Amino acid sequence: MNSAFPHLIDLNDYPVAWWKKVVELGERIKNDPAAFAHECDGKIMATLFYEPSTRTQMSFQTAMIRLGGQIIGFDNPANSSVAKGETIKDTTKIVSSYSDILVIRHPVAGAAKAAALTADCPVINAGDGGHLHPTQTLTDLLTLKIEKKKLSGLTIGMCGDLINGRTVHSLCKALSMLEDNKFVFISTPELRMPAYIKDIIKANGSSFEEVDTLEEAIGRLDVLYMTRIQQERFASEADYLAQKNTYVLDRAKMLGAKKDMIVMHPLPRVDEITVDVDDDERAMYFTQAKYGVFVRMALIMTMLSEKKQTELLKGKVYGGVRCGNPRCITNHEEYLPKSFRSSGDQTLLECEFCDERKLI
Ligand code: ASP
Repeated sequence: MNSAFPHLIDLNDYPVAWWKKVVELGERIKNDPAAFAHECDGKIMATLFYEPSTRTQMSFQTAMIRLGGQIIGFDNPANSSVAKGETIKDTTKIVSSYSDILVIRHPVAGAAKAAALTADCPVINAGDGGHLHPTQTLTDLLTLKIEKKKLSGLTIGMCGDLINGRTVHSLCKALSMLEDNKFVFISTPELRMPAYIKDIIKANGSSFEEVDTLEEAIGRLDVLYMTRIQQERFASEADYLAQKNTYVLDRAKMLGAKKDMIVMHPLPRVDEITVDVDDDERAMYFTQAKYGVFVRMALIMTMLSEKKQTELLKGKVYGGVRCGNPRCITNHEEYLPKSFRSSGDQTLLECEFCDERKLI
């Protein structure tokens, strides 16, 4: 199923050269933001945030305003017709007729793709449940380019809630496409990286290992990417409490790290990095959030000039087969096609909205 507009649902829908160009443009903007102040004069960006956000929403809004454009939208669906039961389809149809570009965040996986199916303008995925967060990845790539001077040949530790953290899913998918990157996943057995992401890493020719403690990994990392335990994605409070506070990066642990290792975090931080790490020159998380504005300026400009149509669904509907993930958009909005990719093995299907696997 094709859309007449370019969309950014998953970075891997575009070639590596495309994202590198966005990141390079982000760096040029960082060095001279005033030169880009009128790039989006007269354009309107809509931000539809169905889930809380500070950095992503405000950095997108700042980006559009700094480009000369204007913004509309909501950050509390309770104040919109969503509260009256309006579907993503209808909200998107209308809002995309008011705006030139639409940015959506939603608590359910696959929601951005669902929005793109009906939108009459480009759609950007600003986070869909525990699935993907491609614009955080662009922010992370710009941070690596500036602070590590490279995007390849890195050993990257990812620590915390790797099963529910959409930022690390998108980042692994991107960094494993670049040469010679290695991953060290630091988590409890319950919060390990999903199997489908590990398979993508292997298919891209990168390697990973899984360890239980920060101490056993920190000394060999070039980058430590900390993440928050995603309380809102746990089935119960007890399940969350069992994971909370397992990983805390503090000054003592930083003593075991390389002198040039950088610490990244998509933020918000809860308690996984103690505040005394903030003064360490290797702590890069606040700088990383600042870079998010420049790369989003670059992305908005790129999407508004991109001519490419997007092929949103390439798979098939298999009779009455439904996605087994209760947090997939196809189980929330009935009109959506239950479309699956088949990965060679005809009995293993992958949902085209949330990537959940299903045996038939
Ligand atoms: N801000 C990031 C996100 O929206 C990370 C987080 O919430 O933990 O995914």
